[in-house]
Amino acid sequence: MVEKISHIGVAVRSLEEQIPFYRDVLGLDFAGTETVEDQKVKVAFFNVGDTRIELLEPLSDESPVSAFIEKRGQGVHHIAYRVKDCASSLKKMEEAGLRLIDKAPRTGAGGDRIAFLHPKSTFGILTELTEEHEAQEQGE
Ligand code: ZN
Repeated sequence: MVEKISHIGVAVRSLEEQIPFYRDVLGLDFAGTETVEDQKVKVAFFNVGDTRIELLEPLSDESPVSAFIEKRGQGVHHIAYRVKDCASSLKKMEEAGLRLIDKAPRTGAGGDRIAFLHPKSTFGILTELTEEHEAQEQGE
């Protein structure tokens, strides 16, 4: 069901402060930023081979990422696995008895269909299922 790691999400206080580390020191391919209103975050992406690092900066105190940083500090926030069909994967997880944060897929950064599983059901790791929106792959 899981095809690969889509990305690793990292909670940061300031993109401006951390982008130079990933881009200039590690030398990762900086793929730009995007604001995700739904989550009240600004996101910066870096391509690392076939996967990505996603830095998440909260835009307000109401952002779930802001609550995460308050509680656990900056650092790894979630692991996102790529699946073929987010809705059917989510259903399987629910049938397996997992606690879901999202009962149905919603739209995340880049137009992907995403859903989160509760870390209480996944041994402490906030887990995201991502059905990637890859327009160029559909044409063949
Ligand atoms: Zn993510």
